[in-house]
Amino acid sequence: MNTQSDTWYAATVAARTVYPAFAGRAEFDVVVVGGGFAGLTIALELARRGKSVGLFEAREIACGASGRNGGFVSAGFAESIEKIAARVGPENARSLMGLSLEGVEYVRSAIAEYGMKGVDPVPGGLDVQRFDDAPAMQQRVERSTEQFGRPLEYWDTGQVREKLKSERYFQGVYDADAFHINPLKYALQLAEVTEKKGVSIFENSQVVSAQNHAAGFEITTSRGTARAGQIVVTGSAYLGRTFPAVRRAILPVATHVVVSAPFAQTPDDAISFAGAVSDTRRAGDYYRLLPDSGSGRRLLWGGKITTRTAPPHNLIATTQADIANIYPQLGRVPLEHAWSGLMGYAVHKMPLIGEIRPGLWVCTAFGGHGLNTTAMGGLVVARAICGEDDQVKLLAPYHRQWGGGIFARMLVQGAYWFMQARDRRDEN
Ligand SMILES: Cc1cc2nc3c(=O)[nH]c(=O)nc-3n(C[C@H](O)[C@H](O)[C@H](O)COP(=O)(O)OP(=O)(O)OC[C@H]3O[C@@H](n4cnc5c(N)ncnc54)[C@H](O)[C@@H]3O)c2cc1C
Repeated sequence: MNTQSDTWYAATVAARTVYPAFAGRAEFDVVVVGGGFAGLTIALELARRGKSVGLFEAREIACGASGRNGGFVSAGFAESIEKIAARVGPENARSLMGLSLEGVEYVRSAIAEYGMKGVDPVPGGLDVQRFDDAPAMQQRVERSTEQFGRPLEYWDTGQVREKLKSERYFQGVYDADAFHINPLKYALQLAEVTEKKGVSIFENSQVVSAQNHAAGFEITTSRGTARAGQIVVTGSAYLGRTFPAVRRAILPVATHVVVSAPFAQTPDDAISFAGAVSDTRRAGDYYRLLPDSGSGRRLLWGGKITTRTAPPHNLIATTQADIANIYPQLGRVPLEHAWSGLMGYAVHKMPLIGEIRPGLWVCTAFGGHGLNTTAMGGLVVARAICGEDDQVKLLAPYHRQWGGGIFARMLVQGAYWFMQARDRRDEN
């Protein structure tokens, strides 16, 4: 079972606010199920619009993906914009990209507006290719900038290798709008702001049932019952059995993260780029140098996407080998922290956002691209519940579909192996 405490991020938090477990009876306009980014943003945005909100978290705030991710905030979705355009048409794809950019801006402004401490936003994102194909990268930049309204910058191999000194890398795409953060500190301070706005937050309060009631819904935890006109379900890959129709639509996919010991000297001979780095492989690496908190800079490195939810026993050794494969000059980097997290994917790799029955909303399945899209989802759902607009309809083509259970996991794992084999072929 995940807690916040197994991550490097947890080691950076001196003291956290502890919220009570729910007990007894209560009434709210809206009950939000889940205390990750999605639940917190929805609750905050509803409270800002005058709704009374109860947020129920099964364990601790941000103990799921939100407190254990890579911390990259960038526009877009887990699905590529080209595939989105093929499904919803170029105009709607451009609008969805606009919403995803609004999600990036939401996180940036929240950090500034609420004076969040230690979230340490560092600008810039670089996505690099491990094979030589300049036209492919140039086309990607052109399409993104001109067709879909997300400005990107093309970097040739020389520019990439000036910042990332690795012969593995060729062309790249620089995103000036992207940044990286300490996600746990962001989530915990978002929770504090949310509570100050009047939301009742409950930890160790798993919602175990939700029934229709005359004026909406009645939800129960092990110690109490709450009524609400509307419910928003955000549990993602950690959602238990309470909402089976939502749970069945989500495929949990694991990814693993390590953090090095502080380097004695900044490893400029390998990485002299302060922003977030990823590679274009279907199941690629993502990494960044963490801001120096006094003892030297550390390297955070993530990857190894798999449908096997248990962490691999040799995570440290295999990640050391992955790092050395790209940066042999770093040798065997000593690693101090290693953890895993689950991302919730729908079969179409797009978020599930909308009202699936009168009063029952979902805002979940953000996959591996959730820092901006959870903010976007929170805004869209809050606006829809408050009758402000119908942007939520843009997501309507992405219905809830059965995730396929264990067979889907086997198929997706097969697809990952196939994609990894294709990536290796492209590199040769
Ligand atoms: C290792 C890792 C690295 C990642 N890196 C990045 C990255 O760099 N950039 C990026 O954009 N995205 C990244 N992601 C994805 C991103 O973290 C997620 O998409 C996002 O955090 C999802 O937020 P959420 O609120 O939907 O879900 P979660 O954060 O998983 O929260 C769901 C919460 O619901 C609670 N819950 C479930 N069921 C119940 C119930 N019945 N009652 C009450 N509570 C319940 C759970 O306990 C949990 O706290 C990464 C994910 C992982 C795992």
